[in-house]
Amino acid sequence: MIKTVIESVKRKKTRAVRVGKIIIGGNFPVSVQTMWKKPLSCADKKILPELIKLQDIGCDIIRFAVPDMQAAEFVGNLSKKTELPVVADIHFDYKIALRVLDFPVAKVRINPGNIGKESGVVEVIKKSTDKGIPLRIGVNAGSLPRNLQNEKDSALAMVKAAESELNILEKYSFKNVIFSLKSSDVTSTIRANRLFSERFDFPLHIGVTEAGPLIPGIVKNSFALTTLLKEGIGDTIRVSLSSEPEDEVLTGKEILKTAGVSAGGIDIVSCPMCSRSVFDVKVFVTNLYKNIHTIKKDVTIAVMGCPVNGPGEAKSADIGIAGAGKYAVLFKKGSVIKSVKIEDAPDIFLEEINKF
Ligand code: SF4
Repeated sequence: MIKTVIESVKRKKTRAVRVGKIIIGGNFPVSVQTMWKKPLSCADKKILPELIKLQDIGCDIIRFAVPDMQAAEFVGNLSKKTELPVVADIHFDYKIALRVLDFPVAKVRINPGNIGKESGVVEVIKKSTDKGIPLRIGVNAGSLPRNLQNEKDSALAMVKAAESELNILEKYSFKNVIFSLKSSDVTSTIRANRLFSERFDFPLHIGVTEAGPLIPGIVKNSFALTTLLKEGIGDTIRVSLSSEPEDEVLTGKEILKTAGVSAGGIDIVSCPMCSRSVFDVKVFVTNLYKNIHTIKKDVTIAVMGCPVNGPGEAKSADIGIAGAGKYAVLFKKGSVIKSVKIEDAPDIFLEEINKF
C-alpha cells in the first residue's frame, strides 16, 4: 500500500522510481532503508521474522550486500519471500548484478568506482531495462573512479562521478535510476547532494556513509539529513551506524519527523531529570520507547521525573506521566487525571496511549 503524502516541507519534485511496493521520488513519502548486517551464511530461517520486525518499526526497504554468486542465489530467492523490497548491493562484478536481475530483486545498487568496465555496466543497464528494475548509482567519496581520486573538491568529484555514469545511462535512454552521493564527511555529503539536486531531477538516496558508532553516527546523520530534507532534497534515507539495523531505522524515522517530512507518529517529551527527580525517567522511557515503535498515532506523550513541575512543564503533551515515589500521576494537557501504583504505571500508561 502506497502511503499518502503529509508534509510541511516543500520537497523538490524528482522523477518517481518504483522499488517494489515503494515509490522513491515524485513527491512520495521519504522512505527509510537499512542494511542486513550479518553474513548471509548466518541468515537461516530467522531472517524472515527479523525482516518483519524491521518492517513493523518503520523500515521500508532492505538492502543486502551480495559479494558472490552464492549470495546472489540467496538474496534473489529471499526477495520472493519477504514483503520488504530487497535491494542487492553489488561491487566489482557486474555478473552478480545480472544474476540477481533474473529473480528479480526490487533494485540493484552499483558503485561506479569499482564495478569495472563500461561494457559490464551496459549489460546491467540492458537487463534492468528488460526487467523493469531500477538501479541505484551509489557514489562514495572513499571509492571514486580512478580519474577523480585526486580531485581536491570531494563533493564536486562525487557529482562528476555521478555525471559520468549518467552519460552511459543516457546513451541507452535509461531513466529508471536513483542516485546517492555519500561521504563520511558531513559537509561534503551536504554539498554534493545540493550540487546534484540543482542539476538533475533524479531521486536521491541520502545518507552519511561510515558515520561511526551510535552517538556520533546519529549526530552526523541527523545534521546532514535534516539539513538536506529541510531544503527539500532527499527521497529516501539510510542512516549508516556501526550498530543494529533497528537503530538505523528508528533514527531514520526520528530524522524524518524532526525534518517535518513524515506523517507524524508518537513524539516523546521526557525530562532530563534533576535533583528533584523521584522517578527513574531513564529506565521508564527507555522501556516505553521499545513498546511504542509499532503504534501509529499522532500523539505527543510526556514522561517527567517529579509531580510538582512535571505536568506543568509538559502541558503541551497530549498525555503524560510523572513519577512520585511509590505512585505516579497521569495527566492530559497538563491536568492530572489519575494516580496509579508505580509498579502498574508502565502498563497503565501504555493502555492510555493506545486508547488515545
Ligand atoms: S520535571 Fe521535575 S525532575 Fe524533571 S527536570 Fe523538571 S524539575 Fe527536574
